[in-house]
Amino acid sequence: MAAVTIRNIRAICTAPAGCNLVVVKVETSEPGLYGLGCATFAYRTLAVKCIVEEYLAPLLAGRDVSQIEELWHLMNGNSYWRYGPIINNAISGVDMALWDIKGKMAGMPVYQLLGGKSRPAVRVYRHADGRSPDEVAENVRRWMDEGVTHVRIQIGGYGGRVGSINKPDEAPDGVYYSPDKYFRDTVRLFDYIRSHVGGEVELLHDTHERLPAIQSVALAKELEKYRLFFYEDCLPPEQCEWLRMIRRQCTTPIALGELFVNPKEYDYLIAERLIDFIRVHVSAIGGITPARKLSILCEAFGIRTAFHGPGDVSPVGHAANIHLDLVAHNFGIQEWAGINDTLREVFPGCPEYKNGFVYANNRPGLGIDINEELAARFPCDDGITRWTQTRRPDGTYAYP
Ligand code: MG
Repeated sequence: MAAVTIRNIRAICTAPAGCNLVVVKVETSEPGLYGLGCATFAYRTLAVKCIVEEYLAPLLAGRDVSQIEELWHLMNGNSYWRYGPIINNAISGVDMALWDIKGKMAGMPVYQLLGGKSRPAVRVYRHADGRSPDEVAENVRRWMDEGVTHVRIQIGGYGGRVGSINKPDEAPDGVYYSPDKYFRDTVRLFDYIRSHVGGEVELLHDTHERLPAIQSVALAKELEKYRLFFYEDCLPPEQCEWLRMIRRQCTTPIALGELFVNPKEYDYLIAERLIDFIRVHVSAIGGITPARKLSILCEAFGIRTAFHGPGDVSPVGHAANIHLDLVAHNFGIQEWAGINDTLREVFPGCPEYKNGFVYANNRPGLGIDINEELAARFPCDDGITRWTQTRRPDGTYAYP
């Protein structure tokens, strides 16, 4: 039997929910057989599209779609310099699409190809924000009423942007926040939620790397008594050595890694058990192939998965997360930002959310499609990104 080969690869850019998404479509020599993958780097969409269409499409044209492992390494090494978020997202788009194609050829969902389900559905955590502890409490209760057991709480958005900030003259424009105020408000918030909502709900918190390292260590220690399910992104990728200090101070579980672009960044964090959950952003790390390898490595070290699932992941990327989650024995939890009706229309076959769980459908491959005509009605905004222009009260740029 002749091999099914890659005929063409395209990147589809669309923003049905306002956030830029990039979806890769790999077309094959078999009429009607194609695969989809998520290559969403929301703030550099044009660069990803360029890599996919100008470099990966000619590199892979005519090659056998069944050789995912070989093609992943070929894509990774072809640029000589490797492991950057733009290249990785482009590779991820193709990698996921190849898994999708393999599933369609086998007549099986991707979770079957990866070993089969370890659970019928994936438990997710939801996010509750508010301008006051009372408002956050109300939002936590709303999720609990829906059956959600794990809620990530925040006051005033990442960095706690509540109240006015005393800035110097000529302070540049930006998204200002005060790390000190954020620290104090967060401790108060946890105290309020535990005393007003109770001890049953599992609480999570994301510092979004907004605190100086020692303050992040202090917050982990302060929050220990509130028994967090996990403490997320408490340090930027450049400062992970501080995790050893957190480990010496408290048992607050640590979830980290949504900004990592090289699986090797996890190596010593896993080997030394400095984290409890890997926050893999599957498209940024290069797709299903490296994400599955990482989760298997973690299983050997007693570390669980908690893959990144924000709004700047396409529904195809969410589907890939869910298939990986269903299989991993060491699955911990999945972040779920929700998929709105417009996205569902553009992407038929989205995973389904119900009572705190997300379910994959049983269709072959990733089980999701794209209505390209509809997608074209929601063009991306390729202007300058504003939310990442974060600043501390004296006007200094801060990483978002
Ligand atoms: Mg996060």
